[in-house]
Amino acid sequence: MFCKKCGKEIPDGSAVCPECGENLNTYVKVEEPVNPGRTLGVTSLILGAAALATQVLGNTSILTFPAAIAGIICALIAMSKSKAADMKCSSAKIGIILSIVSAVIDVVTLIASILLIIFVVVLRPIMSDIF
Ligand SMILES: [Zn+2]
Repeated sequence: MFCKKCGKEIPDGSAVCPECGENLNTYVKVEEPVNPGRTLGVTSLILGAAALATQVLGNTSILTFPAAIAGIICALIAMSKSKAADMKCSSAKIGIILSIVSAVIDVVTLIASILLIIFVVVLRPIMSDIF
């Protein structure tokens, strides 16, 4: 037989290659099934968690909303890929929840800001007319 590493001819049934010292018994590779959506699922989890954490810390910025939307998109792609491969995608499920919560907070904050601006711009002159 021949060594799998160096290719030299060695006695049949050798446990270790006498030429290069390669252990020839550890060549049983266990192939782990690859989940095609795993990377995207983890990405969505990170994006959603980062966006939400930023908001919790009081730094709702122009970046949290795109991050949350990207998190939702990543999670959806991850879920469809995992479903096609018949695999679980728990990271994508958590990721999509965090991303949606973050996006909702952004939208609510935006609406509140707009209402506040409307209130200040429109209602204050009216109020000052009355009083
Ligand atoms: Zn060898």
